[in-house]
Amino acid sequence: MTARKINSALVSVYHKEGLGPIVDGLAKLGVTIYSTGGTETFIRDRGIDVVPVEELTGYPSILDGRVKTLHPKVHGGILARREEEHLLQLDQLEIPQIDLVVVDLYPFEETVANTEEEDLIIEKIDIGGIALIRAAAKNYRDVLIVPSREDYATLQDIIDKQEGVSELTDRRKLARRAFAISSHYDTAIFSYFNEDGELPVFKRSEMKANPLRYGENPHQEATFYGRLSEMFTKLNGKELSFNNLVDIDAAVGLMKEFEEADPTFIILKHTNACGVAVRPTQLEAWKAALAGDPVSAFGGILITNRPLDVSTAQEIDKLFYEVLIAPDFTDSALELLSKKKKRVLLQYHHLQQQPLSFKSLLNGVIVQDTDLKTEGADQFEIATERQPTGTETADLVFAGKCAKHLKSNTIALVCNNQLIGMGCGQTSRVDALRQAINKAKNFGFEVAGSVMASDAFFPFSDCVEIAAEAGITAVVQPGGSIRDADSIAAANAGNVAMVTTGIRHFKH
Ligand code: 5GP
Repeated sequence: MTARKINSALVSVYHKEGLGPIVDGLAKLGVTIYSTGGTETFIRDRGIDVVPVEELTGYPSILDGRVKTLHPKVHGGILARREEEHLLQLDQLEIPQIDLVVVDLYPFEETVANTEEEDLIIEKIDIGGIALIRAAAKNYRDVLIVPSREDYATLQDIIDKQEGVSELTDRRKLARRAFAISSHYDTAIFSYFNEDGELPVFKRSEMKANPLRYGENPHQEATFYGRLSEMFTKLNGKELSFNNLVDIDAAVGLMKEFEEADPTFIILKHTNACGVAVRPTQLEAWKAALAGDPVSAFGGILITNRPLDVSTAQEIDKLFYEVLIAPDFTDSALELLSKKKKRVLLQYHHLQQQPLSFKSLLNGVIVQDTDLKTEGADQFEIATERQPTGTETADLVFAGKCAKHLKSNTIALVCNNQLIGMGCGQTSRVDALRQAINKAKNFGFEVAGSVMASDAFFPFSDCVEIAAEAGITAVVQPGGSIRDADSIAAANAGNVAMVTTGIRHFKH
């Protein structure tokens, strides 16, 4: 049996508006009404019989109303399952059943909006009301919860049209409302205490659900939660896909490292940069980035830190790409690139990264601070006899930024503000280095004279030996291996300058 007749009710509301017809209706049905201080007076003033909650508990309201309904005689009557064993306990302890709970919480948010006096704000943290809401909602199988005055209309219908009989579906719906209200209320309290934002949160109300066509693959459903329009204006192209979003995020993260640099172009594939270059002009930056790996660039994600000009647009137009991101587009560049209807053109307003990163795994989620650390030359500790030259130092900083954003294990080779080769996602650092050297050679670069960055320390001296042999002249790495000395000795033997940073940048 799922229908429940209301025989008794506890009514405790802050705002009394709208309560009149509710209690009139309850009285007409012969419902026993229990109530607290102000609410009780309101009901009595209408000429309706009401039992003060103090009479039920045998306790006065104490501590200026901080404790009014927090009592087993109240919560027992709400929380008891309507089953033999629980009902027997109620009988023995002389606890009456409470079938309906009507609450309207202390106005916490309104108080915060109207005063800065902490004492007033604290007093508006409702304790007993929240407990009533949660208790009644938990016991929705037997008890009806009306958790705010916005739900009076629903209750009025149950009173008037259903003669005070609620169905399980009514009660469960209101229980859901109840938990929405209690979680919102606690979030508002948390936000007040977290005014400095030290504990970052995603505000659910701000997380808009955007269904995507599909996930990583067509058989996977996916939704993006967020407000992309705050970061980008889409000027052209098809709907962004799941993979586009993942790549755009990677592009934003890496470009953030070069935001203040001279004209920069970055080309990414599957979140990894395959071309990065900084040059005096945008067109030169594009050509140098593309030269880094013109094969991988096909179907890539492109990002630049300057408004896109038409001469660069003419070159880019020759390539098939998925997404092009820029802080702006000149009219003629936009006109030209918009001719390809599917290609996505995004204008970014600002480059933003979440302070927290989430990943689902096993039967849960892991959360961590996003890796927002970047090492400049002032953090370099020179480990070798030879110091890096000024040019090498600049390239080491550049290479370090690239390596930080490439999948581990990774090695980035850089020469003259250009990524000339990289190996990433490898199961050994030696493989990553070999891949980087091969790529550089394949695309016509001279490896000799370049510098290299490693996302993590060298466990053995082999990488440095291979690097020295290939003519790489300087290395940046975190250091910290028990065999650091072997790598440093290999660098010294090959006249390679090595610096350590103490900061590892694994990326899984
Ligand atoms: P009244 O005007 O009836 O005196 O107070 C109604 C308000 O008290 C409602 O907003 C209700 O949520 C709240 N309330 C009910 N019981 C308790 C309690 O035990 N402690 C606190 N702090 N608030 C309560």
